[in-house]
Amino acid sequence: MKKLTLIILFFSIGILYAQEPYKRTLKLMGSRFDITVVAKDPVEGDEYIDMAISEITRIEKLISSWDPNSQTSEINRNAGLKPVKVDAELFNLIKRGIGISKLTDGAFDISYASMDKIWKFDGSMTVMPSEDSIKASVAKVGYQNIILDKENQTVFLKLAGMKIGFGAIGKGYAADKSKDLLKSKGVVAGIINASGDMNTWGKQPDGKEWKVAITNPMDKNKVFALLPITNGAVVTSGNYEKYVNFNDVRYTHIIDPRSGYPATGIISVTVFAPKAELADALATSVFVMGIEVGLNRINQLPKIECIIIDDRGNIITSKNIEIEKS
Ligand code: ADP
Ligand code: MG
Repeated sequence: MKKLTLIILFFSIGILYAQEPYKRTLKLMGSRFDITVVAKDPVEGDEYIDMAISEITRIEKLISSWDPNSQTSEINRNAGLKPVKVDAELFNLIKRGIGISKLTDGAFDISYASMDKIWKFDGSMTVMPSEDSIKASVAKVGYQNIILDKENQTVFLKLAGMKIGFGAIGKGYAADKSKDLLKSKGVVAGIINASGDMNTWGKQPDGKEWKVAITNPMDKNKVFALLPITNGAVVTSGNYEKYVNFNDVRYTHIIDPRSGYPATGIISVTVFAPKAELADALATSVFVMGIEVGLNRINQLPKIECIIIDDRGNIITSKNIEIEKS
């Protein structure tokens, strides 16, 4: 009798604390977000997901270069005019962005934003831009001209017409921040997936690791690898729709800030790193640096791995990657 009561007791506790994954998909920062959290019931799951959404929305308001009311837009409006005081959070994000520029010899540059006027990757472009216009487009690009004043917490873009934007790092940052917030609220496990930029923590309720599907850029409907990710980030860069062909060369929407020409030769880069922000920035950087230089740089960084797919469908991986074929 005693034994039975105990069993029933354990069973009820089991039901009480049964954890399930709950997921919501929605558009934030102009992109699709899939937010998954492990919670004890749908009400708690919803609560957690709402917290992540408000955190991502808060970040978007701060860093969006589309929103005229953001501090980022204020920095851009005052380019060549005066320094702008910003929140510590934005100041530090810009500082880290400049750090990545240094790490990648300028392949990554948040001041790319003034040059994407001449390239259109929506199918509307019929002729290659002239060399002169390409050259002129990079005249205002250069992280060296982003002046940070730590004491006054200000950002100054030295040249009139200069612009910064977080298209290549913002989604990763938002994934990291919303993960950190949920963890601090006691959420045991989850995935923040910002259109392929994701960060995970904990494990699935059945004790298995989260598995991340990497799609084959040659055939979007096919998953080419499933990789276990525990408490880490994986980011894929390469929008297979955003490109333009001239003379049989495929130009992607990621542009080399030093030349003004879009990156060629690579169609997708997946980077694994402890944080999505770094993974996001590095994925964009490898596109610009190319296979050889990019791989070399990644192999020198601790805890960072990558998978590159070139325009002939070849799969190239960094030193310690193991792909479980699906
Ligand atoms: P996606 O968002 O398509 O997955 P990325 O994370 O690589 O790909 O971001 C690409 C975006 O980053 C571009 O649309 C543009 O806004 C911006 N960008 C393009 N070239 C660069 C660059 N060299 N450095 C920093 N940002 C860039
Ligand atoms: Mg990126």
